[in-house]
Amino acid sequence: MPQKPLVLDAPVPERRALTTEALQSEILEKLTYSVGKDPIVARPHDWLKATILTVRDRIIDQWMESSRETWRTSNKRVYYLSLEFLIGRLMRDAMSNIGVMEPVRAALKNFNVDLGDLINLEPDAALGNGGLGRLAACFMESMATVNIPAYGYGIRYVHGLFRQEMSEGWQVELPEDWLAHGNPWEFERRESSYEIGFGGHVEPVQEPDGTTRLEWRPAEHLLAVAFDTPIVGWRGKRVNTLRLWSAQPIDPILLDKFNAGDHIGALEESSRAAAVTRVLYPADSTPSGQELRLRQEFFFSSASLQDIVRRHMQAYGDLGSLSDKVAIQLNDTHPAISIAELMRILIDIHGMAWAPAWKLTKATFGYTNHTLLPEALETWPVGLLERMLPRQMQIIYAINAEVLGEARKMGGFTDSQIANLSLIDEHGSRRVRMGQLAFVGSHSINGVSALHSELLKKTLFSDLDRLYPERINNKTNGVTPRRWLLQCNPGLTRLISERIGPDFQDDFSLLAQLDKHADDPTFQDQFKAVKRANKVALAQVIKDRLGIVVSPDAMFDVQVKRIHEYKRQLLNVIEAVAQYSMIRSHPEKDWVPRVKVFAGKAAPGYWNAKLIIKLINDVAKVVNNDPAVRGLLKVVFLPNYNVSLAEQIIPAADLSEQISTAGMEASGTGNMKFMANGAITIGTLDGANVEMLEQVGPDNMVIFGLTADKVAEKRNRSEVPRSAIDASPALRQALEAISSGVFSPDDPNRYRDLIGGLYDHDWFMVARDFDAYAAAQRDIDELWNKPRKWYSMAIRNTAHVSWFSSDRTISQYAKEIWGVPVVGG
Ligand SMILES: *Cc1c(COP(=O)(O)O)cnc(C)c1O
Repeated sequence: MPQKPLVLDAPVPERRALTTEALQSEILEKLTYSVGKDPIVARPHDWLKATILTVRDRIIDQWMESSRETWRTSNKRVYYLSLEFLIGRLMRDAMSNIGVMEPVRAALKNFNVDLGDLINLEPDAALGNGGLGRLAACFMESMATVNIPAYGYGIRYVHGLFRQEMSEGWQVELPEDWLAHGNPWEFERRESSYEIGFGGHVEPVQEPDGTTRLEWRPAEHLLAVAFDTPIVGWRGKRVNTLRLWSAQPIDPILLDKFNAGDHIGALEESSRAAAVTRVLYPADSTPSGQELRLRQEFFFSSASLQDIVRRHMQAYGDLGSLSDKVAIQLNDTHPAISIAELMRILIDIHGMAWAPAWKLTKATFGYTNHTLLPEALETWPVGLLERMLPRQMQIIYAINAEVLGEARKMGGFTDSQIANLSLIDEHGSRRVRMGQLAFVGSHSINGVSALHSELLKKTLFSDLDRLYPERINNKTNGVTPRRWLLQCNPGLTRLISERIGPDFQDDFSLLAQLDKHADDPTFQDQFKAVKRANKVALAQVIKDRLGIVVSPDAMFDVQVKRIHEYKRQLLNVIEAVAQYSMIRSHPEKDWVPRVKVFAGKAAPGYWNAKLIIKLINDVAKVVNNDPAVRGLLKVVFLPNYNVSLAEQIIPAADLSEQISTAGMEASGTGNMKFMANGAITIGTLDGANVEMLEQVGPDNMVIFGLTADKVAEKRNRSEVPRSAIDASPALRQALEAISSGVFSPDDPNRYRDLIGGLYDHDWFMVARDFDAYAAAQRDIDELWNKPRKWYSMAIRNTAHVSWFSSDRTISQYAKEIWGVPVVGG
């Protein structure tokens, strides 16, 4: 039934002022009346909460305005479904975007409270593993900035990604408790809660008009409760909602049990329900084949779709217009079950026929693919889906029949190609392929860099691309320049503003004006001074956390990202070992002093990744304590890499290591953050590095190694790496040192298998890229010895970064996938 109950000109409270005086009196008021503390006894966490509540009020004013505008204009809404949002801290971002950073600092100073201390006290919301989750967070900020009415939907994990500590150089995982002090940013919306079913069976139901309809009767229900966080864009123009779902038991059932005296049973059910949103799966580029993971995926997909459909019905009263008013983007396949769930809602609940429902579904969904790694492609056993989601499984079969029918009609597909595009993998035990489901249920499938999107067409989805041409497109990733330049590097922001004026903060393409200052010695010296100050700050962090002293005048050579064999931290550390022995055997030479900085988490079950962390720490121990090296080489591993640590490390980097095996990194976004902050990249032609080369030019980036084509060729020929090792004395010596226990005298065999793998198959081309990498590093040394050249390159990296703004990425999604207008994109 159509309902238009909203009175769009209802009164609003007076807007909160942004002056120091207003902020100061309100912080005191929040501290007193909302936190319940007298300033004479208030602790830092109390001040933090009072400050966040004060800033939040200013954002709420604009939040209400943004939402009214969307209701008023009936603009299309975008829904971004992601199992991960790697948000990090929110307070500095929010203050900076609404322009109250300095007044808040001044207001707090009058209470003798330091804003910087409070910023560092805020917990880092790590509701994601790495790049995919951080992309979702950057997109939320950019969608607000370019004025798109958008909602992010995800899960409110009680424990985000684990906290990483080191124990004798080994990674130890500890639970992260980001909610321990409460979360002043969020609003619990008990009224926006939905029942989510699991299990049970499907029953035919007779309609009064004589037709039959199928109805899913789940055996089990739980409640999805919404928690909303406002996300404010640049200059506070628009505020969107990040809606995270929390699982709770459904009360009446529990109450029955409790009243019947089954207290234990009631508690068990309660904790079983809550388990669905208790932890984030700590995997990156590997699927987590756990029943609980599938429950999480369906839980948040179903809640989000029920919410979207309810909102649409409230505004328009009819689902026929769904795809005109709603665009849903699937961030990877984790929410792909949404396709079957929307079909169920349209057909079983709203009585729509199959054909129009299928058309509407495809017109509504877009799917972003993030990986080609076969081991990372999500599949679920048919039996599990039949048990957990029987109706959705029926729908998946029906979709598959439709797709296979269309393939046969088109013709020209071999049996193996048909098997390839089927939603069901029939090899061995039958499994549902979530990538294929996401593809066929979407009108747009995008990769995240030019190279990755081409490879999608050529490899993973070649047959589906022929069946449904024009659906695959590219949207190269981006990062928000607010967080990754303005906020994390205030020194550089100030310098750029002095040189070309502050307008670049509203239009990052203006950064290109820096190009003509790149060879100006005065500007270079200023640029270098900013970099050095950032390095001094990072050196302090390294000293505080690890007790290692590093010189801010050495080159800071940085590789920070998840630890994975394809990202090749191993290549980097082997090169460090080779360099170490060069320095020892040629002490007379003029070596470039380097600090090699590593950080990153390994998935807890990924043995080789954890062993690589241990190797980095073992090498660090030997190299850092060898007087023969005279401090020319230092190796540090900073524990617990997260958004906040990234914000400290990246502005201090001279060299950015982006050295993945070509063809394996879908895009990378770390590379873009380093570029913005004036680091020079050493990298392979992989992911978005290819486009960085186009933007910044070959004179300002150091590229090495096998291309994606060559990697594929060598793998197809099963070429052995032995000859590469035999041909390179430096490599052979480094490998022998590591595998014979030079760095692990307490366990000489520790690295035997890890290094043995390089002789055996070397899937990631570490041995075969080694010489090219080492030569590229010597080129880097030469550049470092010509500081004028170095800083002109560094400046040009910042100057040409604007294309990697997530505002550009989001504007392309808006125009080419969602069909929504943007401002200033
Ligand atoms: C940007 C970012 C990533 C992604 O880094 P890549 O180098 O693209 O893998 C991962 N984790 C954090 C905390 C980040 O900020």
